Order: sequence, then structure tokens, then C-alpha cells
Amino acid sequence: MTVQSRTDTADTARQNVPLVLARGITKSFNGTSVLHGIDLDVDRGETVCLIGPSGSGKSTFLRCLNLLERPDDGLVLLDGAPIGYTQTDGALVEARGRALASQRQEIGMVFQQFNLFPHMTARENIVEAPVRVRRVGRSEADARAEQLMRRVGLEDKLDAYPESLSGGQQQRVAIARALAMRPALMLFDEPTSALDPEMVQEVLEVIRGLAEDGMTLIIVTHEIQFARDVADRIIFMDAGRIVEQGRPGEILKNPQNDRTRAFLSKVA
Ligand code: ADP
Ligand code: MG
Repeated sequence: MTVQSRTDTADTARQNVPLVLARGITKSFNGTSVLHGIDLDVDRGETVCLIGPSGSGKSTFLRCLNLLERPDDGLVLLDGAPIGYTQTDGALVEARGRALASQRQEIGMVFQQFNLFPHMTARENIVEAPVRVRRVGRSEADARAEQLMRRVGLEDKLDAYPESLSGGQQQRVAIARALAMRPALMLFDEPTSALDPEMVQEVLEVIRGLAEDGMTLIIVTHEIQFARDVADRIIFMDAGRIVEQGRPGEILKNPQNDRTRAFLSKVA
């Protein structure tokens, strides 16, 4: 994608914007192509579940959406604004440092490994970024942390350290921490894959609550039952491409593509 076509994409999109508009997202590692030009639109309030075999590029795609990886080509617009670029005199210039960090704060991400800061309590984990990055006042950040811990069902664990929490509790704190930045979009990368089975549901319930509250979510998951219940749309990815997408009922009951069918017969 040329700078001009990136700029044109940005200009067109702003007129009638889905919250997320990704075009031609392409990524290689060491000469091996991992994403072959992915297009994706996600509406405000939509819940999209991304499924597909291991190694198909799901994590890389999520990481490209929030610029943890910079795509080799393509563009992501969040609410019409190009992520990873600033616009100067109509041209897009790669954002770095603070400008990039500030754009990335619009997108919350929760990983498979609940990577809380081990030397901080749940409360400190949650208030850290708002206070340090957003310059939110400490008492406001504290009040928000308390509200978020209630939301994830852990209001009694505000002053607990991660090591004293179960995996499911740590992951719920990680969700609260991401929400503390008031992101416009939340990305989840296999949020329950590292959990003991008995803790999977408590985390899925929190995510379901976010979907019901109208947050915009993109969730990579192997929990097909969950995807069926919460997703507005399921996307099947294989070998760096979107192979098939649609409403859960369509994709899961009546997959059109052989690769989707083969994948579903293994996981369902
Ligand atoms: P998925 O999340 O669907 O399992 P990934 O996006 O993690 O797939 O990986 C897609 C492919 O890209 C895999 O072959 C993986 O080995 C490769 N890959 C991912 N990240 C890197 C990296 N940082 N360096 C080299 N190869 C990578
Ligand atoms: Mg992955």
C-alpha cells in the first residue's frame, strides 16, 4: 500500500466509519508470509470471535491491530484515525514514541498469560497506567479501580497480590486493568487457554458481560460454545487469510469451506 493509498483509505473511511477498519494487513517474519492482506471491519458494539488452527496468524493479526507488530503493508483505522500514523499536511507519517503510545491506549489487550505486575496489588496494577500515562488523579483512579474490580467480581481482592490469586482471578484483574484506560476496543488473545478448566467460565462470564454492555470486542478463542453464544460474527482464519465469516449459526452449523469444516470437526 502506498502512502497515497493509505491516505485515501483514511480519508474515505472517516466519512462513514466502522470502529475498526483494517485493510490489506500483511506481515512476514524472516521472509515467511504470515498474513496475506487481511481486511476487516468491526462495528461499534460488535463482538467478533476469531477462530482457526494454531499458527494461522490470529495472534499476529491482533498484534497488528494495536501495533504491537507493525504490519509490512496495510492500514488500520480506529474510529477513522490511522493507527500508527499521524497526519501531516494530508500525508501519513509513522507515529513513534508518545504519539504511538497514546494511540495504542485506545485499544485494550488481554493475553493468554495474565501478565500482571507481580510486585503490585490488584489495585496498583489497575491504577498504574491511568495515573502514569493518562495523568488521572489518584483518588479518581482508585474509585475507578474499585468499580472495575466490582465489575469483574473481585471487589474483595483489591489489595491482593497476583501470587495470592487464582489464574482466573488474575485474568479478571488483567481485564479490569485493560478497561481502566477506557479503551474504545478490547482485544482478547485466547484469554482462557492458560486457565485450569474450572476457571474458564468465570473469565468468559466477565467477557460476556462486556459484550452485553455494548463494548466492541475481538476475541481469539477456542471456546466454540462461547463464541456461538456471544459473537455477532465468527471469523475463521487459516494460513494467514480470512477463509470464511458470518453469523455463528451460519458458520458453525453450515460452514461453506472445507477447511472450516475440518477445523470445526476437530474442536467442536
Ligand atoms: P496463531 O495465533 O493463529 O496460532 P500466530 O500469529 O502466533 O498464529 O503465528 C503465525 C505464524 O507466525 C506462525 O508460524 C508463527 O511461528 C509465526 N510467528 C509469529 N510471531 C513471530 C515472530 N515474532 N517471529 C517469527 N515468527 C513468528
Ligand atoms: Mg495465537
